[in-house]
Amino acid sequence: MKVTEHLEQNDKTVFSFEVIPPLKGHSIDEIFNAIDPLMEFNPPFIDVTYHREEYVYKKRPNGLLEKRITRKRPGTVGICAAIINRYKIDAVPHIICGGFSREETEDALIDLNFLGIENVLALRGDAVKTEGMFYPEENGNANAKELIKQIVDMNQGIYLDDELHNPKPSNFCIGVAGYPEKHFEAPNLEADLSYLKEKIDAGGSYIVTQMFFDNQKFFDFVKACREIGITVPIIPGLKPLTTQSHLSVLPRIFHIDIPQDLVKEVQKCKSKADIIQVGIEWSVQQSKELIAFGVPCLHFYTMGRSNATRKIAEQLF
Ligand code: FAD
Repeated sequence: MKVTEHLEQNDKTVFSFEVIPPLKGHSIDEIFNAIDPLMEFNPPFIDVTYHREEYVYKKRPNGLLEKRITRKRPGTVGICAAIINRYKIDAVPHIICGGFSREETEDALIDLNFLGIENVLALRGDAVKTEGMFYPEENGNANAKELIKQIVDMNQGIYLDDELHNPKPSNFCIGVAGYPEKHFEAPNLEADLSYLKEKIDAGGSYIVTQMFFDNQKFFDFVKACREIGITVPIIPGLKPLTTQSHLSVLPRIFHIDIPQDLVKEVQKCKSKADIIQVGIEWSVQQSKELIAFGVPCLHFYTMGRSNATRKIAEQLF
């Protein structure tokens, strides 16, 4: 079933979350161990992230460095199939532009379609870690809007090979990313919102936001979206803060602010357990306000660790 259908069918706020594929060489049990404790809260769908290639440098016997390309977290499509098979719920694979030609993207979408997967979250992806800027692949999509157009084409039976005879259309529901605190590359929030509107006009059916710790930023974002004619469901993304280092790591990686009240609470903590407790309480309070605001779904970034999310969900669902 499509994410939008799940949201329409439920009058209450539903629970969902995102998992990341295990590192190469690790077992799928890591994913199951992260998902199992959260299943009692009835997530209608689970997102699985996608990870582009990284460059690593290996020293050769002659002392020269050899540049190698590696994908450290492959397996998104297989993990989605395993989730559907084991839990009988929907899986939402993330599809990214970065590192893929349009042909490779089409092949991945064909696999997903054959597996009966009806949802994708369409993203541009970030730059390669060692490169400062995002560069699309040759013949790859340059941004999420172009990727959405490719998926919409497939939904209309238009494949890249225009000589196909009577090709079957796919039927993907397309989610997109939104940034209550602005995407870091956008010149300003207004411009970012206008690009978000372009993604929805191109075929995006719902928005999942970047994590945020200040609900007012989300409320303002929703208001601004509605004012420019974005009418699709907007799902808030939440991450429980669990370590002292999150105070600097999360702003650096995700370009978000952490409210001073939360910073002060974390700084008062005497132990790791205290910090986890502060993070849980903050997230529960955020969630309660968001539910009262009428959000269709609370979407948690578990990053492969479900303990804190479970403790939050226990108090809400
Ligand atoms: P886009 O919507 O393409 O926007 C990228 C930038 O370009 C923005 O600054 C936007 O304002 C600007 N822009 C858009 N259109 C135009 C235009 N026409 N002209 C000029 N500028 C324009 N990354 C992964 O690698 N794997 C994942 O699984 C993953 N999952 C994510 C899930 C969520 C919910 C979120 C919020 C992010 C996720 N990311 C993931 C990170 C995401 O890939 C990065 O934030 C990326 O930098 C932007 O992706 P996007 O789809 O928002 O890009």
